[in-house]
Amino acid sequence: RIGSQVVDRQVDSVCPFCGVGCLLTYNVKDERIVSVDGRDGPANHGRLCVKGRFGFDYAHHPQRLTKPLIRRPGVPKDPGAAPRPGDWGAVFREASWDEALALASGELARLRDTHGKKALAGFGSAKGSNEEAYLFQKLVRTGFGSNNVDHCTRLCHASSVAALLEGVGSGAVSNQVNDVAHSDLIFVIGSNPTANHPVAATWMKNAAQRGAKIVLADPRVTDIGRHAWRTLQFKADTDVAMLNALIHAIIEEGLADEAFLRERASNYEALRENVRGYSPEAMAPICGIAAETLREVARAYATAQGAMILWGMGVSQHVHGTDNARCLIALATVAGQIGKPGSGLHPLRGQNNVQGASDAGLIPMMFPNYQRVDDAGAHQWFEQFWGMPLDRAPGYTVVEIMHKALAPDSDPHKVRGMYIMGENPAMSDPDLNHARHALASLEHLVVQDIFMTETAWLADVVLPATAWPEKTGTVSNTDRMVQLGRRAVAPPGEAKPDLWIIQQLAQRMGLRWNYEGEESGVASVYEEMRQAMHAAISGITWERLQRESSVTYPCLDADDPGQPTVFIDRFATADGRVKLVPADIIPAAERPDTDYPFVLITGRQLEHWHTGSMTRRASVLDAIEPMATASMNQQDLDTLGLEAGDVITVRSRRGEVAIHVRRDDGTPCGAVFIPFAYYEAAANLMTNPVLDPFGKIPEFKYCAVSVQRGGVP
Ligand code: SF4
Repeated sequence: RIGSQVVDRQVDSVCPFCGVGCLLTYNVKDERIVSVDGRDGPANHGRLCVKGRFGFDYAHHPQRLTKPLIRRPGVPKDPGAAPRPGDWGAVFREASWDEALALASGELARLRDTHGKKALAGFGSAKGSNEEAYLFQKLVRTGFGSNNVDHCTRLCHASSVAALLEGVGSGAVSNQVNDVAHSDLIFVIGSNPTANHPVAATWMKNAAQRGAKIVLADPRVTDIGRHAWRTLQFKADTDVAMLNALIHAIIEEGLADEAFLRERASNYEALRENVRGYSPEAMAPICGIAAETLREVARAYATAQGAMILWGMGVSQHVHGTDNARCLIALATVAGQIGKPGSGLHPLRGQNNVQGASDAGLIPMMFPNYQRVDDAGAHQWFEQFWGMPLDRAPGYTVVEIMHKALAPDSDPHKVRGMYIMGENPAMSDPDLNHARHALASLEHLVVQDIFMTETAWLADVVLPATAWPEKTGTVSNTDRMVQLGRRAVAPPGEAKPDLWIIQQLAQRMGLRWNYEGEESGVASVYEEMRQAMHAAISGITWERLQRESSVTYPCLDADDPGQPTVFIDRFATADGRVKLVPADIIPAAERPDTDYPFVLITGRQLEHWHTGSMTRRASVLDAIEPMATASMNQQDLDTLGLEAGDVITVRSRRGEVAIHVRRDDGTPCGAVFIPFAYYEAAANLMTNPVLDPFGKIPEFKYCAVSVQRGGVP
């Protein structure tokens, strides 16, 4: 009995939404989840947000895919059409698993054998388990034959990871979120934690209650601003100017931690020389923050006993995303605010397993545990470990793969076939008209998912997979905690576990895989991944996870409790020192002009998650936020003669949407904020596919648009 409710069983698992990784319990009655409770996990201590607590009934939605589907002969792939929920009979026919798997694997193998290994690519998922991510990248590398494998980490923190690997030698966080309990100052930049990492935000608010100073730096003033000591509403796209001004002030005012810099950093001279021209006084008109405020924040940050920097995609999703993160690393290092409890760097990971999927090698330039595919030693090790010859060239990234799908026939690297598991690039990629045409142009597209997503709509074969509560597996949260989710309910109809589907395709493409054990051999796959990741998780066995549910890495042996704070003695770079990399101002690729005078900022909102395929089918969440809205400042509404609730058409050089407008004075004048979860007003129709050169991340946070009254939403 749970309160007034009688249930059949309770199953411990992990929330399937954001990277905070709250542990929860599914309450199951008559093979359906009827409610969810928070567990005392290390990241949440019983707390859940609205998504974790109420966003569970998507798993039982009548639109779940329950049988394999094959596109009917002669039905064209229309990139402009939206999928008809629950009514796809005119486009697809049902098939047996044998027929669907034979067609999917046969066509992928034919394209590989006819056009070469570069003809295929795969997108895995940050919503799947570590084991699924590991097997997926292994299938692409050993079965497809190239490193053309990526996932949505490319769209969220790829630039942060590029800067972190370069600077501190590890792409993961240095300190866990609830370490803010030991901070005097919490610097939140480019992040809306109350919407996107809500339970993490509660730790920040608790810290503020006991006297810690929150500094919110963001062009959009979001809810966490209500708890902030100072709010730096800097002009969009001026991150480097503002951050270099803070570093300048710390050095100029004699607040730099010279001993730390001497003993633990390299390239400080170059950094100091570079920021010489970035005084707060010079940068104030550029970034829109008063020089004295910049100096005040710089002093508070440098003199705090402990200071954490937490950032989101407002930092990373720019053509200068890597430079933004380089500046954050430099800021922490110059002030000596890293390598101790309460002081460090924390890129808040978006999806529930974006950290783990990246760790497991679901990225085109790295084997598991960030071992470069073009490193001779790593290459040789994995060839022996997997018993297969491997490609040495890094593969293409998400957006590059879309370009390669539209390459001319003469291009030897033209991508002709894809396998997409649990991702929805027809909604999440920039410049959707281009991305949807690319997907539609593929000779063969296999999509594995739980719903008929916008991407599945363009597939040749659709394979019905399992939702998170229907399988057992591990995920790794933003805090480097490996956490075990357990199967709570059976999948509907003939839907199959993702691990089973990957293995079936692999075997039919000639790979001799044999993972034995319950639930498609998930424990054996985990054990192989543990070996592939070397020391990082060597102390985290499957048995230990079953016992403890959550273990932090690095974890070197069975007695190691895990290391919540890293870089205490040395950084993970070759010489053990943090490498400081100076950065200069690079403007956004597309600035407002007379034709397109507004800036479009895209992002998420509290109730809906990413492309909305799950949360828009969760009844409570959908009831709270049932339709797309664009947020604008009252001043802009007045100028345009608009009122909240009016319909506007937002248009960029690439696409347009008609959408209702909502008043939000946290959105800066001259900008429009649109969440990207709504297929009927897909924000990414308008976004710019230009990439950061290091992380290859698109500039989702800045492009030029026009706003006009009217349109049909
Ligand atoms: Fe789930 Fe994130 Fe909410 Fe926790 S904070 S309940 S992990 S969505």
